[in-house]
Amino acid sequence: MYARNINTYILSIMKIEENYSLEKHNTFHVQVAAKHFMEYDSEEELSRILRDEYFMECQKLHIGAGSNLLFLDDYNGIILHSLIGGAEQLKSDDTNVYLQVGAGMAWDACVAYAVSNNWGGIENLSNIPGETGAAAVQNIGAYGVEIKDVIASVTAYEVKTGNKKIFTATECKYGYRDSIFKNELLDQYIITHVTLKLTKQPVLNLSYGNLSEVMCAEKEQNIQTVRDVVIKIRAEKLPNTDELGNAGSFFTNPIISKPHYEAIQKDYPAIPGYEVADNKIKVPAAWLIEAIGFKGKSFDTVGVYDKQALVIVNLGDASGTEIAMLAESIRTKVLQQFEIEVNPEVRYVG
Ligand SMILES: Cc1cc2nc3c(=O)[nH]c(=O)nc-3n(C[C@H](O)[C@H](O)[C@H](O)COP(=O)(O)OP(=O)(O)OC[C@H]3O[C@@H](n4cnc5c(N)ncnc54)[C@H](O)[C@@H]3O)c2cc1C
Repeated sequence: MYARNINTYILSIMKIEENYSLEKHNTFHVQVAAKHFMEYDSEEELSRILRDEYFMECQKLHIGAGSNLLFLDDYNGIILHSLIGGAEQLKSDDTNVYLQVGAGMAWDACVAYAVSNNWGGIENLSNIPGETGAAAVQNIGAYGVEIKDVIASVTAYEVKTGNKKIFTATECKYGYRDSIFKNELLDQYIITHVTLKLTKQPVLNLSYGNLSEVMCAEKEQNIQTVRDVVIKIRAEKLPNTDELGNAGSFFTNPIISKPHYEAIQKDYPAIPGYEVADNKIKVPAAWLIEAIGFKGKSFDTVGVYDKQALVIVNLGDASGTEIAMLAESIRTKVLQQFEIEVNPEVRYVG
């Protein structure tokens, strides 16, 4: 039906799939389908799609690799996905290189490329699943680094008009796993490129956790070894999404007031906490989930990963709703026991 209505130009250039399985497009491997699925590989194509009258009226969602999505049901609209790849050096001086990366490029391929050129800044973000466009939406972070630290600009197209806009990092309003694209501009812009400002004289950032300790054992101290070590540590802690469906950390770490934290400390002296602002403490959600006894527990088709309590896993053919129900039980228990709200980092769709 949609295919018959859509602008003939778009029909001639686009491959539009109907009743398309999204199982391989979400890392939970939930078995849902999209009414329509479309991919494009240039800014021009995207701009034309966005200006198509029929497309404008349809329900739509742009996805990356689906590593932060939880589909609760079949998607009754159009799923869009970018095939814009490639990494181009826009400019370079003695200290920096500006690398423009296609939104559809796998994020880790981008990291590997930067590291192979000895351009520093993103090596700590090695092996994070997903694509580069989404990385700029999410403000991905790991091992003391966030992508916002190296973002020079983000190129995007407004869904409503098809017009292009270049956002500076400041305009992206980055915060902890947060950006303007998750809030006031949610689903309003489609990112086509991300420009990263990388350094030609890398300074290793080993400030987080046991990274410096593990790095001590390495002969070479460079960004390639940081990448190798991060990949190794991550593989030990996190399940491979091809073997066990998951979306990484299901919840963000809650931030609570200092008095609240100190009150909990009286009953739970071991509760970890990191001061993030005046009178505000970030508490690891993993610790809270372990404290309520959910780490390693399984409930039929879903469970909590035994090596990392923040990770909810699909143990078989779990539906999105079953995964969401486990998340809700965790939220409720943490709230009852600690009066702390843990909120999903994962985006629910449907
Ligand atoms: C095993 C595992 C480990 C993980 N570890 C980490 C970690 O260490 N740190 C971390 O921060 N995250 C981590 N994540 C979460 C996830 O990898 C990131 O959130 C990632 O950026 C999601 O990318 P994606 O391409 O899969 O996006 P998706 O999940 O497909 O989409 C995420 C959001 O971005 C939007 N979006 C996607 N592409 C575009 C685009 N081109 N333009 C506009 N909007 C778009 C979507 O609509 C959605 O709102 C992990 C996930 C897994 C499965």
